[in-house]
Amino acid sequence: MIRLDMLPRERPNPKQRLVLTGLPVAIGMVTPSLALLGVQVLVGRIAIDVAVVDVLQQQFAAGHNLFVLSLIGLIPFVALSAMMSKYSKWRTRRSCHTLLGCGLAGLLGLMIPAHVMVWYPLYGPGRMSSTAVIAFVFIPFYCTLTMFLGLAVGWVITKAQWFQQFRKGQCQRCGYDLTGNVSGTCPECGGKASSPNATMTGE
Ligand SMILES: [Zn+2]
Repeated sequence: MIRLDMLPRERPNPKQRLVLTGLPVAIGMVTPSLALLGVQVLVGRIAIDVAVVDVLQQQFAAGHNLFVLSLIGLIPFVALSAMMSKYSKWRTRRSCHTLLGCGLAGLLGLMIPAHVMVWYPLYGPGRMSSTAVIAFVFIPFYCTLTMFLGLAVGWVITKAQWFQQFRKGQCQRCGYDLTGNVSGTCPECGGKASSPNATMTGE
């Protein structure tokens, strides 16, 4: 468990930026398989070693193609990775972790239950065949919407002073004192201020 107050007000270093950028795509690649594995073990009461072999075999098997499904499902994760790459350039580690957490919560909060719902008929009582596999094509699009909802919440939260590297009245990109600045542009780094004397977001 990451404790936010232990994260410094610094920006992520290059290695941390790489992790922040790569993590969403990495999670997106394993989510469909892990959801199926979870349904097999918890709903289907299939032994975990048997389930793992089955899930691995289904990666490219006709009719299931888990690997292809995860590629389609990657769309929102790729978008999140691209955004984290941009965020982590100017924002503090506190902000980056909060934004990543909120984005993933919005995304996975819908994607995991959606995947479970599609697989459930195959392994639940009655063992019907799932006719909803086509839903996998649409799931990523709805999940993109909920991801942006999560990101919007995170974006509002990280506007708080606690998440900023520099004090109010300073440029949030470089820390230059913007008191009395009327141009709306930081003379030091050229960053845009939303309004004179306002806290700059550096975006
Ligand atoms: Zn500046």
